[in-house]
Amino acid sequence: MPYQPADDRYDRMTYRRCGSSGLKLPAVSLGLWHNFGDDTAHQTKRAICQTAFDHGITHFDLANNYGPPPGSAEEAFGAILKQDFAGHRDEMIISSKAGYDMWPGPYGEWGSRKYLIASCDQSLKRMGLDYVDIFYSHRFDPDTPLEETMGALDHIVRSGRALYAGISSYNSERTQQAVAILKELGTPLLIHQPSYNMLNRWVERDGLKQTLQDLGVGSIAFTPLAQGMLTKKYLGGIPEGSRASQGKSLFPSMLSDEAITNIRKLNEIAERRGQTLAQMAIAWVLRGGGITTALIGASRPEQVVDCAGAVSNLDFTDDELTLIDQYADE
Ligand code: NDP
Repeated sequence: MPYQPADDRYDRMTYRRCGSSGLKLPAVSLGLWHNFGDDTAHQTKRAICQTAFDHGITHFDLANNYGPPPGSAEEAFGAILKQDFAGHRDEMIISSKAGYDMWPGPYGEWGSRKYLIASCDQSLKRMGLDYVDIFYSHRFDPDTPLEETMGALDHIVRSGRALYAGISSYNSERTQQAVAILKELGTPLLIHQPSYNMLNRWVERDGLKQTLQDLGVGSIAFTPLAQGMLTKKYLGGIPEGSRASQGKSLFPSMLSDEAITNIRKLNEIAERRGQTLAQMAIAWVLRGGGITTALIGASRPEQVVDCAGAVSNLDFTDDELTLIDQYADE
């Protein structure tokens, strides 16, 4: 049976303006960092993407190096686009990035014009696309002039390879410089992608969150669930197959007795709000409107459904926020 998206998909999601741009993004976006490499069944990847789209998640976030092996997530997503979403390209926002190690030699990582443009072309080929909606510089390169990296993003947009430019994990000061350079070039910075969750608040300490609001740049918070820590899944130990059990990027040492005790308390607050902990963690990232969208990952379609449900309660009382800070500070 060919995939038929749910008719009511746009009633299930909230869409938020990305900074001062004309683009709206779903409050919850789906990232393909984990669970889209060759180690995951294709049917699972398809089901996750279909479920996301059925729940109004129109934004899919990739990067050149997502896998394993690097590049395989883009290849898998390209196959899914062809199989399931051929008639829906104009309903989707598809992002990719370059910045981390992708191929051998001096042109396979960081922020040179050579690397960014070549990598963008490779990503388009792997996904079978004419253009991506957003193309990011994945990390700041201290050894390349920022003018060169931003010039490459401007070229990628002007040449039609991407519709918008983004940067990821740049601090507030570098972001201000990047915004000024891009403005002069005539390609405004659409969006910044930083890590942000209850347990990781560097964007507040650094001033980045406020800077983005002041400059009218949108924001997409990655790892809003702290890679699964801010869900119920680790309250009874480390389940088989979970990210922490695979020792890839979430390590059992992060799940100390103290951390679990605090997460249990957070879970009680979420229950009192009539939400799951995952939903509350997403709502917390989106509170006050400073962040455009929460960028989740998922290993199963049911997780996407749970996360998408966060939009039914995005408001917090002051008391709830104070209580959350007691159990979830850095
Ligand atoms: P999350 O913090 O959302 O963690 C996702 C993991 O949490 C899932 O794999 C799953 O773990 C678990 N999970 C998700 N939903 C639920 C649920 N409802 N109930 C229980 N468990 C749940 O984000 P990620 O760390 O996956 O990152 C998200 C995206 O952010 C990436 O895919 C990527 O696009 C982007 N990113 C960007 C970076 C950058 O440098 N720009 C760096 C890192 C990520 P399990 O697999 O154990 O089931």
